[in-house]
Amino acid sequence: MSELYADIIVDISHEKLDKPFQYRVPERLRDSLEIGMCVTVPFGNGGRRLKGYVIEIGEECKFDPQRTKDILEITTKNAGVEDRLIALAGWIRKNYGSTMIQALKTVIPAKQTVKRLEHRTLQRLMNREEIISLLGESRRKKQVAKERLLRELVEQEEIPYEWVTGKLGVSAQTVRGLEKAGAVRVVSTESLRDPVRLAQENEEAHARQTRPVLSAEQRRIAEEILADFDAGSPGTYLIHGITGSGKTEVYMQIVEEMVRRGRQAIVLIPEIALTYQTLLRFYRRFGSRVSVMNSTLSPGEKYDQCERAKNGEIDVIIGPRSALFTPFPKLGVIIMDEEHENSYKSEATPKYHARETAARLAGMCGATLVLGSATPSMEAYYRAQSGEYKLYTLKERLTGGQLPTVYTIDLRQELKEGNRSIFSRKLQELLADRLQKGEQSILFLNRRGYAGFISCRACGHVMKCPHCDVSLSEHKGGRLICHYCGYSEPKPSACPKCGSRYISGFKAGTQQIEEKLRELFPNVRTLRMDGDTTKTKDSYEQILSAFSNREADVLIGTQMIVKGHDFPGVTLVGVLAADLSLGANDYRAGERTFQLLTQAVGRAGRGALPGEAVIQTYQPEHYAVTYAAEQDYEGFYNEEILYRELGGYPPAAHMLAVQIFAREESRGQSLAEALAECVRGKMPAERGQEMKDAAQTGGERDRMQIIGPAPAAIGRINDIFRFVFYVKSAKYDTLVKVKDVLEEKIQGEQLRTELVQFDFDPVNTL
Ligand code: ADP
Ligand code: ZN
Ligand code: ZN
Repeated sequence: MSELYADIIVDISHEKLDKPFQYRVPERLRDSLEIGMCVTVPFGNGGRRLKGYVIEIGEECKFDPQRTKDILEITTKNAGVEDRLIALAGWIRKNYGSTMIQALKTVIPAKQTVKRLEHRTLQRLMNREEIISLLGESRRKKQVAKERLLRELVEQEEIPYEWVTGKLGVSAQTVRGLEKAGAVRVVSTESLRDPVRLAQENEEAHARQTRPVLSAEQRRIAEEILADFDAGSPGTYLIHGITGSGKTEVYMQIVEEMVRRGRQAIVLIPEIALTYQTLLRFYRRFGSRVSVMNSTLSPGEKYDQCERAKNGEIDVIIGPRSALFTPFPKLGVIIMDEEHENSYKSEATPKYHARETAARLAGMCGATLVLGSATPSMEAYYRAQSGEYKLYTLKERLTGGQLPTVYTIDLRQELKEGNRSIFSRKLQELLADRLQKGEQSILFLNRRGYAGFISCRACGHVMKCPHCDVSLSEHKGGRLICHYCGYSEPKPSACPKCGSRYISGFKAGTQQIEEKLRELFPNVRTLRMDGDTTKTKDSYEQILSAFSNREADVLIGTQMIVKGHDFPGVTLVGVLAADLSLGANDYRAGERTFQLLTQAVGRAGRGALPGEAVIQTYQPEHYAVTYAAEQDYEGFYNEEILYRELGGYPPAAHMLAVQIFAREESRGQSLAEALAECVRGKMPAERGQEMKDAAQTGGERDRMQIIGPAPAAIGRINDIFRFVFYVKSAKYDTLVKVKDVLEEKIQGEQLRTELVQFDFDPVNTL
């Protein structure tokens, strides 16, 4: 038997992460040693022993075998939180493809020499009535920022200072003005740390809070989940419930119970839904034991949050994807709200998915994992169907409000009857009605995943790849290309189905919609929310609160507007072109469309007044449109899963995208081809056999399939050419092996100006 060697990192603090040392694996550890394990190794000549982490195991000795030392032992005792995260990094590296250093940097923030964050809060000094009178005054004077702050102060006696200047967008000057007027004072860290005061304040905060009595269904869910945990078999649970059905209350109940058991909680929320309102609810419930991690924090602040978590200063962290790596000593539960969101998948290498990574972490910590969504991802629902996750369904909205009446409008018919406007006649009629009544409307332009697809405005026909059943994208020079397999054809001048000349891409943006709306209704007050209007910090929150305050009649926006705030004043939602996202050139187009339409439609009628929604589409018969109009998730799932099974797409099977980036087009192309060829069979004999075995067990369905290579959806960015090929297999492990083989080949290639990345079960078009 040949010797085994391990690459070990002996110092994971600081930026020294990138220097592995090689050690020999002694006979007795051969079977037990795994990547990610913590070991003790001799270091230097002075008999020093250091703790190290195994990042790689292989047969090749990179140094002098005579001088390579043995690993002393596996350090199993006292595996601290850091060890667990490093083991998790090992798992991420293996399952998503990256270097160990990239994986480690993902889970552990680099140590920063910054001074500790000073935590400040704003305290109200006046009583509620006095604040209300100030509020009236600033409203008259149109002091918008001051008004926002005062409105919060009416409800709350204390606000974290970062929220005042951050989320609320109130300037320090405004705060000073209020301080002078004797309305508030700014209190800094030290006074907050005073334990006596803190306890007192927490009690008051708890007393102030009106906590709803959980419904029988909510209680049952929380109790069952906790019972499993207490019985020592924490599981993974999926709560499927429309917005407003009380999921967050269930989360908070579970978190509270976990904290009572001396455990900590990680609450993941997509960045875009991480609004002030959401934070406030948790802050009110858990006081200063809760903290927030988001992308606006500096590396130093993030490090500081991690230290607080490690030291037991907080019990609950709320944040997007990366908050998963908060180093809690005794993690009890991970909550993942809006589980279907694409932002849970990292776009940078390692391209991990927070759902799977959370499941792994929960398993390592004996923690519970709770997923929640109004429109669960196909992956989560598939696993719930297979019994891997336990499924709960919350059917009713607790704050009243019924599902809106939905009108699906066929845009082909509109054109036929002479209406060339982007607004159907039904939508115009309902908009006029709302303006006249003084009720609010939302116009939603579905542009997600939209990448230049071509469709016929007369019959709705979409140009698709004859081999992959995904839509073709228009490229410069007028050719249509499939980004999965590289198939291409010239752009037709007439629709191949009906002969109409109205065949083209859909070009209207939110700005044009706003202009057209003004042409129709000259006095309409509009707000627009899209990539352009939300560039500056807090602009997102500001637009939402302005609309909440009824400063506009119509909010026009892209997918951003379907999340976050609740607008009780909205009684009409118009979806301008529902099928834009259906045209997206990837296999998730239907799922994404269904999710967006369902959420958009659900925005109407949250308040006391009933709502209506208009879905304008060229494909009124498409199942993603019809099920969304009926708000029928299961109907959609049952149809979509058939398509995934037939096409061999996730979650029915797995898919690995191999992306190649190169400065020279020809080199990129040939590297892509060489790598694809390598997967096709010309792999090192032993590994190749292994892979063939893996590919053949289980018969036809487990066969690997290779698609491409082809230029990526965006073939060139900043003069870097991009190519991609896909490997499909029923088994994830087979794809991990493919990745291992490719990694080995790449290492032997001495690539200088090329780069290869892996993306398992990609969520975006590549
Ligand atoms: P979701 O997270 O599913 O959108 P929430 O938990 O935010 O739902 O609940 C929606 C609204 O209903 C919130 O205002 C919440 O306070 C309220 N609510 C939740 N549960 C109850 C309950 N059992 N009784 C009364 N109100 C409730
Ligand atoms: Zn046509
Ligand atoms: Zn194709």
